[in-house]
Amino acid sequence: MTLKDKTTITFYNGLTTIGGPMIEVAYNKSHVLFDLGEVYRPELELPDESYSTLIKNQLIGDVPNFYDPLLTGQPIDHQRWEHAAAYMSHLHLDHSKALNFLAPEIPLYASPLTARLLPVLNENGDFLLPAAGHKPNYTRPIIAAKYQVPIHIGEITLTIWPSDHDAYGATGLIITTPNQTLAYTGDIRLHGYHPDWVHQFLAAARGCDALIVEGTGVSWPEEKQVQLSAEFTGPRTEIELTDQIIQLERVNEKRQLTFNTYPTNVERLLRLLELSPRKVVLHAKRAHLLKESLQQDYLYYYLPGEQKIANLNPQLVVDYEKLLADDHEYLWQVVKNYGDLQVGGLYIHSNAEPLGDFDPAYEPFIQTLMDRKIEFKALRCSGHADEKELKQIISEVQPKALIPVHTLHPELEENPFGKRILPKRNQTITL
Ligand SMILES: [Zn+2]
Repeated sequence: MTLKDKTTITFYNGLTTIGGPMIEVAYNKSHVLFDLGEVYRPELELPDESYSTLIKNQLIGDVPNFYDPLLTGQPIDHQRWEHAAAYMSHLHLDHSKALNFLAPEIPLYASPLTARLLPVLNENGDFLLPAAGHKPNYTRPIIAAKYQVPIHIGEITLTIWPSDHDAYGATGLIITTPNQTLAYTGDIRLHGYHPDWVHQFLAAARGCDALIVEGTGVSWPEEKQVQLSAEFTGPRTEIELTDQIIQLERVNEKRQLTFNTYPTNVERLLRLLELSPRKVVLHAKRAHLLKESLQQDYLYYYLPGEQKIANLNPQLVVDYEKLLADDHEYLWQVVKNYGDLQVGGLYIHSNAEPLGDFDPAYEPFIQTLMDRKIEFKALRCSGHADEKELKQIISEVQPKALIPVHTLHPELEENPFGKRILPKRNQTITL
């Protein structure tokens, strides 16, 4: 190590916005990039999602020497950078959507579940951004990293830890260089299924030189009171959420019950499948996702006119008409045709699409349910640590420097154990 060998961190995107962090850690001739998402801003109504449009609108970072030269028109300087790799903390689009933009020769690491689920989610070519020279349904290779086994990228070492977030297979990262140890939380919470995993990851990061922490939970300081108020009856944890669904099944013995969840929150669905008193029936597309990624079979149905999916067991299909007529045997995943549902039923909306009134599909969806006098029950649980949990996360790590990202208010995260750095977009810092 000479004096000029320093660890640098460059922040290309995802700082004062929720999502899309793109951060490069470099040492000498080695460098790594994480994550590979696109910032979600539907209100921009962009004409396309080409590389240049996304760069121009700052939805992805303008990161040199990582993107595919077929997109950028710029060759990668392999002499300057002898060792390169990328990592994705989890499969949410604001962390993964641009993964096909990575140059094909640069290895991309993620958890085994992330590596398995993303190609299935992109089977129809409508999940990820397309790779240059490939069909839209192509997903570039993702290396399924072994948890807690160091990955050497020249002089940089990556260690991937299982963590907890509302994306199945979410992870955190510890990065070591010859002179620094850094940790990156990805998206993180303590009220999910695996707080124990989170605590282990944080313990491994303890005393690190810099903790890059997400701060979604401090983005709306004005809303803080609602969650803390005594009237708040919504679920505070994932466990409470599934318990509340089961409770709704118990008190509604004779009523049509339907639900929907978000596809990437596989674990919530698995828990419901395991614990539900009624038989849970999934739409075929969702059953296919679980089959392809986990090799698990569940009851499923097709909407009228839908094409049969080859890998689903034909013995597990439930007739759609039977579901429409049912009021006691099934809890089933409804994805459209809400007008077919029974009058007076109950629908559980659990962070499903349409996600909220920013989506043009939301209002007509709510209106159809109202027209059918279907009770709309929203049972949500955040994938992100709230303000209190963030404080705990920081206190478990006690970092020498805290670097908040992925938040509207990075200045609201404080570090009682050392300094805090609020980087600007495209800024490089040396610790
Ligand atoms: Zn996420």
